[in-house]
Amino acid sequence: MSERLRVDPIGCQGHGVCAELLPERIALDEWGYPLLAAGDLPAGLRREARRAVAACPARALHLTGTPAGPVLRALQRLPRQHTGNTQDQRPQSAS
Ligand code: SF4
Repeated sequence: MSERLRVDPIGCQGHGVCAELLPERIALDEWGYPLLAAGDLPAGLRREARRAVAACPARALHLTGTPAGPVLRALQRLPRQHTGNTQDQRPQSAS
C-alpha cells in the first residue's frame, strides 16, 4: 500500500524538525513551515518518515495510507454474521 506524508496546517508550528529528519521529502518555506514533496513516499524512506512523524513536537505530521494493522486485517477476514442488522459495522480498511 502506498503512503503519503501530510501536514496539519493548523497544528504545525514551524519547528522544522521534520525537514531536518527527512530532507529528501520535506523542505521549509521562508517562514520555516514544511513544503512536502508531491506523490507517494518511496518505500526506501518509510523508516525515516516514521521517525519524522514521531519527532514532530506538534503532532502535526502524519502518514496516510498506512497499511492496516494485524487486528484490523484479522477482523476483515471474519465471515459476516447475520444479525438482522442490514449495515455492516466492521471497520473499513484505510484504502
Ligand atoms: S516538525 Fe511538525 S511542527 Fe515542525 S515544521 Fe514539521 S510538521 Fe510542522
